[in-house]
Amino acid sequence: MEAGGFRRPGLVRKLFEFVFPHYCKVCGHRLDPSEEQLCVTCYLGMPRLEYRRNDINPTERMLLAEKSLVRAASVLHYSKESDYRNILFHLKYWRHPQVGVWLARVGAQELIPQGFFEGIDCIVPMPITYWKEIKRGYNQCSFIAKGIRQATGLPIVNNAVKRVHEHSKQAGLGKYQRWNNAQNLFAVTNPSMLQGKHVLVVDDVVTTGATLCSLIDVMEAKIPNLRVSVFTLAVAD
Ligand SMILES: [Zn+2]
Repeated sequence: MEAGGFRRPGLVRKLFEFVFPHYCKVCGHRLDPSEEQLCVTCYLGMPRLEYRRNDINPTERMLLAEKSLVRAASVLHYSKESDYRNILFHLKYWRHPQVGVWLARVGAQELIPQGFFEGIDCIVPMPITYWKEIKRGYNQCSFIAKGIRQATGLPIVNNAVKRVHEHSKQAGLGKYQRWNNAQNLFAVTNPSMLQGKHVLVVDDVVTTGATLCSLIDVMEAKIPNLRVSVFTLAVAD
């Protein structure tokens, strides 16, 4: 892997690409063997969320009510009409989860020099329900976690929290109703694994922050001395 998300292709990779061509996950054009996941044009045009350590970015702003929150960042910031949302479709619905590993690794490598991962003990992928994981075949957030682990070496904790139900309307609810709903969505199955830790929760995309807030609310209530940071591939508005 070389800087910028591209690598120099060897003969084997060139032959492999010839027989099994890959396509850009944004525009759909055929990739050159030196390109990985995105063509050069789409890679250079990525709507990156510029993250500066002392600024409040849009992802952090959605999570400000969470008292255990330390910091939050996303790799991309796009509108719902943007072609870059194709990356999330490939990751979640079109069975190309490796694009999540790649984008998470690229984003994490850019955040390391800014001290984003300082003090973080482990990565917790946003859980999905048992039945959704059976249907999809994987939890896409586990692939995002893998990309961050490749860049940082941080361990992944998969079995401390679980998702009980899929959907619950959170927007516009009061704090008490929101808390009741959160209790129905998530459960902490192994609080001792995260007690006293600074945990990095990872998700694919954040739109209102309601799902992340629900998970953090439940974790805060069940896990003593918890600190939480958040990493998502995208923030959409
Ligand atoms: Zn492209």
